[in-house]
Amino acid sequence: MSKVLVVGGAGYIGSHMVKMLGRQGCDVTTLDDLSSGHRDAVLCGDFVQGDMGDRAMLDAVLARGFDAVMHFASFIQVGESVQQPAKYYQNNVVNTLGLLDAMRSHGVGRFIFSSTAATFGEPQYSPIDERHPQQPINPYGRTKLMVEQVLADYERAYGLRSVCLRYFNAAGADPEGQLGERHEPETHLIPLVLQAASGRRPHIGVFGRDYDTPDGTCVRDYIHIEDLCSAHGLALQSLMGGAGSQAYNLGNGQGFSVQEVIDTAQQVTGRSIAVVNGPRRAGDPARLVADASLIREKLGWQPRYADLATIVEHAWRWEIRGE
Ligand code: UDP
Repeated sequence: MSKVLVVGGAGYIGSHMVKMLGRQGCDVTTLDDLSSGHRDAVLCGDFVQGDMGDRAMLDAVLARGFDAVMHFASFIQVGESVQQPAKYYQNNVVNTLGLLDAMRSHGVGRFIFSSTAATFGEPQYSPIDERHPQQPINPYGRTKLMVEQVLADYERAYGLRSVCLRYFNAAGADPEGQLGERHEPETHLIPLVLQAASGRRPHIGVFGRDYDTPDGTCVRDYIHIEDLCSAHGLALQSLMGGAGSQAYNLGNGQGFSVQEVIDTAQQVTGRSIAVVNGPRRAGDPARLVADASLIREKLGWQPRYADLATIVEHAWRWEIRGE
């Protein structure tokens, strides 16, 4: 039974991960400052409220002894990272380095890191595999790439082994309906579309219809949160089995346009969704689709919920919970 510390385990992805680890019989501890996470989303294991920048607190937690750390505690909004880069470099880079230092002090040598497709920047080809150049175009992407580079150096120097998972678009919700996306403010397409369907918002704004894509709207690779978490489980197993560090792209390999997401949501919900067309959002590439062959081959990862309608349906059940 692995003993795992999940940093940021009260957030959207982290909380689904904690639930999955618990189900798999891991001994799991969540560390979260609750700045954006929710205490009631941590469904199993121990919970510690604390700030990742607090070294004394990190030392006290890591003294409990862990086989591995999974790190989900990042700021993730591209636009905000442009406006407030210091906030992003401090949390996503400096505090992550503090976490890695504390891990080294306590002899924890396995790390699973939430990276992002934003480390690639403007795609030079599609789908994007691991050989694609990494040239991020915003501070958010740069913070994640910096940590990836640090991790490569730390493996060489300190033997700290890591798996970096570069998420494309995480979406959907717990198939059992206990967890879902609760960002405040919400900026992600699928929950916003579903809030427009449920009446919590008057409409969904579409950011640009003049992209070089079949219907003119941006194309993204949406991956179900459960499939994303199952990839972390496999990454953990690989590190426990002695594998060396590796970075993997993580998506379904299938692109859907913003308009296709809206159409699917109308079908799944049976409600009509008002659309307002707006200008492009700065920094949005036309198309981001993963080539995830490497993780399929090396770790045997298989998405279970690759179908967009299922992803939207699970997110919809979460949106209308309690209705
Ligand atoms: N998008 C949109 N309207 C919104 C939110 C997002 O048209 O209110 C588009 C956005 O431009 C992008 C896609 O939906 O092409 C997915 O955006 P999201 O913020 O969910 O994820 P990202 O791709 O930025 O990680």
